[in-house]
Amino acid sequence: MASPLYALVDGNNFYVSCERVFRPSLNAKPVVVLSNDGCAIARSNEAKALGIAMGAPWFKIRHMAESNGLVALSANFPLYGDLSDRMMSLVAGLGHRQEIYSIDESFVDLSGIRGDLVKRSRVIRERVLQWVGIPCCIGIGQTKTLAKLANHIAKTAERKPGSYPVELAQICNLAALEPTARDAVLAATPVEEVWGVGRRIAAQLKEGGIHTVLDLARMDLATVRQRWSVVLERTVRELQGQSCVVLQDTAPDKQEIACTRSFGRPVTALEDLSEAVSEFASRAAEKLRRQEGLANQVLTFVRTSPFRPDPQYSRSIVVPTSPPPTVR
Ligand SMILES: [Mg+2]
Repeated sequence: MASPLYALVDGNNFYVSCERVFRPSLNAKPVVVLSNDGCAIARSNEAKALGIAMGAPWFKIRHMAESNGLVALSANFPLYGDLSDRMMSLVAGLGHRQEIYSIDESFVDLSGIRGDLVKRSRVIRERVLQWVGIPCCIGIGQTKTLAKLANHIAKTAERKPGSYPVELAQICNLAALEPTARDAVLAATPVEEVWGVGRRIAAQLKEGGIHTVLDLARMDLATVRQRWSVVLERTVRELQGQSCVVLQDTAPDKQEIACTRSFGRPVTALEDLSEAVSEFASRAAEKLRRQEGLANQVLTFVRTSPFRPDPQYSRSIVVPTSPPPTVR
């Protein structure tokens, strides 16, 4: 059997890139996409360069609209879902099997595929850019953790010139690097960039003198298991090239389906509100039918923006479906 090899393909600044497909005037401008509660959930590179953090609430950054030409858009999830589907079907052509990991990320099994994998990846990257309009980066490694890390390197090398060797920008195949070059790249990457290493564990590791990915990859497995957990031990094994996390190419059905949206301005007419609620209900039902699921209750809620100074309003109702559906 061929030794495992994975790619992780990830859309750059995905929601912002989706908006730019239909509004090219947003190119090269600082852009953020805001969630329902008015926090930045996607930032263009130009917005990142302004120092806007992920999750920053709009009221704290809105002054940059005036000073830096920052553009804020409210999230349009049906659009992102549609472009995601198109991107994913093109990306599937990279290898044998695909695990859709999130709206803009998928792992692809490259085990046993011969030839120049960087070239092959570049073809897919160009195709996604041309046919869908979304720029993406591709990382390749012997394990999913290494593929994820390679993707981070590909993205960072492109966004911050000088951070990594320029040839790793956009597409980075860690498995093809000479050991010394590979170690240099791991040594240049802070430990918190590793998939599954959260802020708390990163702080503990740093206290113990483990600062870079290379430091973590060289840790003694028994020590990791004793001082941290078997979960972190698995991560270290994956960094060492031992594949422990398998590809999941069938997505589990959703137990809950949500369809929510914030409005650009306050909605005060009942007619507008009921139109929005029925539209979202039909969209949620569409998602439910797609997974051939059944619902036993429906929750509807409305609320005012938590960032407005006026008194808040919030109501919700749970409607059981009657009679409860049964599987035919
Ligand atoms: Mg992304």
